[in-house]
Amino acid sequence: MITRREFLAVPALPVAARVAAHVQGTTTGVSSGRPWYATMRRCGQININERDPLDLDVMGWIDYWASLRVDALLLNGGGIVAYYPTQVPYHHRSEFLGSRDLFGELTTAARAKGIRVVARMDCNYAYEPAAKAHPEWFERDENGALRPHGESTWLFKTCMFSPYFSEQMPAIYREINHRYRVDGFFTNGWPGTGPLTVCYCDACRDVYRTEVGGIPPQETDATNPLYRKYYQAFMDRVVEIWKQWDGIAREASSEAVYVGNLGGGIRTVKDMWRIGRTAGWFNADHQGRSGNTPIWDCSLQGRVAAAMMKGGTATNVTGAYANTQPLWRHTAKSPAEIAMWLAQTTASGMVPWFHWLGGHPEDTRWREAGRGFFRWLADNEPHFRNRRSIADVAVLYPQRTIAFYRSGTSPDSWTGADRARTSEYLQGIYYALLEARVLTDFVAEDDLGEETLRQYRVLILPNAAYLSERHVQQIREFASRGGSVLATFETSLYDEWGNRRDQFGLADLFGAKATGPALPAQDNSYMRIEGVHPVVDGFDGTALLPGAAERVPIRADDAGALVLGMVPGYPSFPPEMVFPRQPNTSEPAAIFRQQGQTRTFWRSTNTDLARLLGNTVRWLRGDGQPLMTINGDGVVEAFAWETDPGIALHLVNYTNPNMMRGWFRRFYPVGPLQIDFAAPAGRTIHHARALRAGRDLALRVEGSRLRFEVPQIADYEVIALT
Ligand SMILES: [Zn+2]
Repeated sequence: MITRREFLAVPALPVAARVAAHVQGTTTGVSSGRPWYATMRRCGQININERDPLDLDVMGWIDYWASLRVDALLLNGGGIVAYYPTQVPYHHRSEFLGSRDLFGELTTAARAKGIRVVARMDCNYAYEPAAKAHPEWFERDENGALRPHGESTWLFKTCMFSPYFSEQMPAIYREINHRYRVDGFFTNGWPGTGPLTVCYCDACRDVYRTEVGGIPPQETDATNPLYRKYYQAFMDRVVEIWKQWDGIAREASSEAVYVGNLGGGIRTVKDMWRIGRTAGWFNADHQGRSGNTPIWDCSLQGRVAAAMMKGGTATNVTGAYANTQPLWRHTAKSPAEIAMWLAQTTASGMVPWFHWLGGHPEDTRWREAGRGFFRWLADNEPHFRNRRSIADVAVLYPQRTIAFYRSGTSPDSWTGADRARTSEYLQGIYYALLEARVLTDFVAEDDLGEETLRQYRVLILPNAAYLSERHVQQIREFASRGGSVLATFETSLYDEWGNRRDQFGLADLFGAKATGPALPAQDNSYMRIEGVHPVVDGFDGTALLPGAAERVPIRADDAGALVLGMVPGYPSFPPEMVFPRQPNTSEPAAIFRQQGQTRTFWRSTNTDLARLLGNTVRWLRGDGQPLMTINGDGVVEAFAWETDPGIALHLVNYTNPNMMRGWFRRFYPVGPLQIDFAAPAGRTIHHARALRAGRDLALRVEGSRLRFEVPQIADYEVIALT
């Protein structure tokens, strides 16, 4: 469903860079208002193992990281294994530590090079002696047994609701603070963004009794009242622990910070917006791709992080090792794949965090891949100081739908594969926007107020099936202020927990009603072009377009001109039976209303659907002067940032036979690309420079339009407009 209104011109917003959300709620004592991690631009991590203290080359490692000009380094402190002579009971010292204080040595050496130190911790597992002395610290299965690690079975899972998190980890943090006054703490693997776990320890049973009212289901099931209460209790505990640990970090320095690990990817279950309101620094742990993951998955991650942090610090880890399936921890991924991951991290506004695992690498090929990129970043640092994204199309990140959705077409089954599918609606629209080269931001569903949305002409709702009354009202208000809205499939048909509404929550906005539940997925349905409209431009030579595999049947409130009529599916086998039973219907597939195409596009990558979605977004933007156009061949993703010195236009070249399945072996350069870009009001631009190529570009300034040609892009280019 689509609604387009005349867009009201909104002047460019003077948006001040927003510092860490948690600063609002705590006293930081930071006079500048910007803690060190808010201006950090390069971050590194050597992730050592228990044996490394035997003979780790401290100076060699610190020299390497210094050569990358990193602002901060993640160094293993403790948790599972202590790399310093801890006195905290049951904090396991490395068996190979001897008389060494490896963490202290690394910290001292890093600081001597002007590098900040964040202690990398692990709060998730501990050894058996701890379990014997403090059985209350550990997770239990339904039979009361400890939960051993899957591979390292001598380690046992600790429980977030237990005093291990509220007493033992704080004791360790305070010891490290006392000895080393670190700049921050990072916990590997916690809290993550995936499904909730259910534990049966005494602490958890107490939570179930007093807060939840029963034992919650083990699977994600937002239809279950116990799950809903557990979800709240779980998120309350995450925030409580996060704040406690952040407070402890600050005991050493008001500028220190606690950093949680927020997992990787867009398939989140935990309440990311709420975590974003708590976190000073959002670390995404999306280290690479495997299987049939498109190369732009890292950019998607960056867009989610940006929506949650709104200018606050977001980092993404690039694993230099082969984090594929199967996994190889001690050999490097290809330099081209490393470069693309670092490029997308940077282009999408996150800070790259380069990561190697093990202190004695026999494969060192990754080193130069990281060093070359980081040094280039450092040489051009002012152009990576982003103030705000320049985009006029917003895509709602449908967090609750991705977390909880049970498709109307398969309400009785729910597996991990289903969760993967809930993100396909988003993947589809993303791919279409990417091909259409539209400057886009993601917005969080709890962030749909005017202050956020007034920057955008178009709001896209990619099957945002689960929306609260407040969300629905805010989307209506966006439209009433002149914004255009594109929604697909079951958008707004359920409340935020998945209770089905009688009708689309946005039925009034779209002037269309569902006439029944979503229909079972079906091949071989079509849309018939019935009228003339910009969204069907370019389809000369066909009357039929591919239809959505899934759809909600709808009826328009008023019988306007039909542009795309629904042709119901008919048998696709055997060929004798392949003819339409109902060649024409009055049911609209798209007029000003359209349904269910984005996931079908993602699965089929059908070129007609790409054109239709691209046409639709262009029509919704409703202008003869788009914010940006790029002419020239290639699959190129663009990001535009207002920076301290001007504007940085980031162009990432995905054109590659390994675009949809890794890794990149080499680059396939594109260019020349002719770019026409609208300078934001209040910015006077005289100069264009390609930072990666290291050369100036001829710039034509015509009114507010900036025109220039980028001769060639191998992997990534950043055009600095100043
Ligand atoms: Zn527990």
